[in-house]
Amino acid sequence: MASSSYSTPCAACKFLRRKCVPDCVFAPYFPPEEPQKFASVHKIFGASNVSKILNEVPPDQREDAVNSLAYEAEARMKDPVYGCVGAISVLQRQVIRLQKELDATNADLFRYACAELPVAAAQFGRRGSAGNNGGGQFNPNYECYYPNSLWSNEDTSGKSEGN
Ligand SMILES: [Zn+2]
Repeated sequence: MASSSYSTPCAACKFLRRKCVPDCVFAPYFPPEEPQKFASVHKIFGASNVSKILNEVPPDQREDAVNSLAYEAEARMKDPVYGCVGAISVLQRQVIRLQKELDATNADLFRYACAELPVAAAQFGRRGSAGNNGGGQFNPNYECYYPNSLWSNEDTSGKSEGN
C-alpha cells in the first residue's frame, strides 16, 4: 500500500468512488478522516444538492454551511419526523422549565432573605443568646438587595414577558 497523503481522495470522492481532483468542491470540508460526515449528508441531502449548495454559498461561509448540513443530516437520521426541530423544541421546553425553576428559586430566596431580617436583628440586639439558629455573621447593613439585583440583571438579558 503505497499511498501518499497527496493522492488520498476526500471523504466525498472516496464514498462516490470517483477521482478527487485538485479543485474538488468537497475536499476542504469532507476530509478523509471523517467518512461518516459525508455519508450522512449524502444520505439525507444527496451529493449533487450538497455540491449545488456549496457552489451557491460564498467560500468563507462554506464550512459553516457544511457543518450545518452535517448537523441537520444527523438529526434527521436520529429523528426522521422532526429532525433538528425536535432537538430545538426539546431545548426550548427545557429553557422554559428552567426559567420557571429559576423564578421560583429567586422568589424563595427573596422570601427567605426578607423573613430572616427581623430574626437576625433580634439576635443581634441581645448578644447573650449565642446563635442556635446557625445564623452565621449578621451584617447590620444587610438588606433585601440580593434577589432584586438578580432580577435586575435578568431583565437586561432579555426576559421577554414579565409575570
Ligand atoms: Zn474530492
